[in-house]
Amino acid sequence: MRNHSATLFEEAKSYFPGGVNSPVRAFKSVGGTPLFMKEGKGAKITDVDDKEYIDFCCSWGPLILGHAHEKIVKNVGEALLKGTSFGTPTTAENKLAKLILENNPYIDKIRFVNSGTEAVMSALRLARGYTGKSKIIKFDGCYHGHVDSLLVKAGSGLADTPTATSKGIPESVVNDTIILPLDNLIVVEEAFEQFKDQIACVIIEPVPANNGLLKQRREYLLGLKYLCEKHGALLFFDEVISGFRVHFSGAAGYYDIQPDLISYGKIIGGGFPVGAYGGKKEIMAHVAPEGEIYQAGTLSGNPIAMTAGYHQLLECSKIGFYQELESRTRDFVSNINAFCEKRGYNFHLTTIASIFWCVFGKKDISRADQIDASKMPTFSKLYHNLLERGIYMGPSGYEVGFISNAHSESVLNDAAVKFKDALKATFE
Ligand SMILES: *Cc1c(COP(=O)(O)O)cnc(C)c1O
Repeated sequence: MRNHSATLFEEAKSYFPGGVNSPVRAFKSVGGTPLFMKEGKGAKITDVDDKEYIDFCCSWGPLILGHAHEKIVKNVGEALLKGTSFGTPTTAENKLAKLILENNPYIDKIRFVNSGTEAVMSALRLARGYTGKSKIIKFDGCYHGHVDSLLVKAGSGLADTPTATSKGIPESVVNDTIILPLDNLIVVEEAFEQFKDQIACVIIEPVPANNGLLKQRREYLLGLKYLCEKHGALLFFDEVISGFRVHFSGAAGYYDIQPDLISYGKIIGGGFPVGAYGGKKEIMAHVAPEGEIYQAGTLSGNPIAMTAGYHQLLECSKIGFYQELESRTRDFVSNINAFCEKRGYNFHLTTIASIFWCVFGKKDISRADQIDASKMPTFSKLYHNLLERGIYMGPSGYEVGFISNAHSESVLNDAAVKFKDALKATFE
């Protein structure tokens, strides 16, 4: 059998650390070598050996319309002919901002940047500059990009200082981050008491989807808002995944909760590198050049990326878009779950909107420490069984799956047959 991917990966290893430009792509947690993709159309992608897959990774979330959506391709093509970057304001930025702000009551103003990490990093600076405080609360099981102060995990004891999850992060930075478990308001209240008047913001993925899918209760998120208000801290929703995914207005809209700051990424760029952060006018007024909190970007608001984002979000803003996507996802998930129930597998898919995740167990979970790490070898088996049958997912048991609008009922029915067959090969 041909395996051009393996050959290309060997070559890539001589160019890039570990052969990749983002770590999880390297297939380390599932074993084997990463597949090199050469094209995608709708819900399907094709690798360099001409094998086709139904894609549930969707570039890790951005492609909510699937690959090479006609309107994005056409409009980006036209935009390219007019020049790719000016370093001046362009109408493309206004158009995307207007579409977002008119359909999202949770932010008054927005600033475009180039990635999710950059959005979080910038909004964090804003939170600190605005409140004049330096500590932040972050939750175990939430990922916020590779910002120094957020690549941090809890120490072994409760009162221990946190430790960095990467080398190269100064202790002084780590010491300003407080790590707490999700789904527990008491520990948040205690942290506010312990670090009185020092906490700038509480940052959370309102739909934690980077370390499994750890759905939170609305009452919990409301509780965080209450505690932030009580203690003069900002509530910061990192909606890089959930923004334009669970609702046009993200988790803020899905749960109808008003945070102080929101970061976006992934879907907002229509498959191009775009991030953004936004909030109330009073807060955003502190960003340069209106205010004194500096943040800039040579390619920020890039007209090509803005055009792609605009045409993707225009589709998303159509009436019924999210209901339809959610209902197709629910049918797919129920189909798989009914099969697992019948055959007695200790496995189910958990879901919210058009996101799903493989859980090795019967119950949904809400905290990182409830994930059964001992089941990851079983996930790897399942993963390769899925690949063999033409299903592509993010290569780690901690990653969620995404369903795009191009995943029609018939694609999903086909995927369900293959998924069940892969489960059978894994569990029987
Ligand atoms: C993906 C992600 C990020 C980082 O975005 P990049 O574009 O990869 O830098 C930050 N926060 C959340 C919630 C994410 O899902």
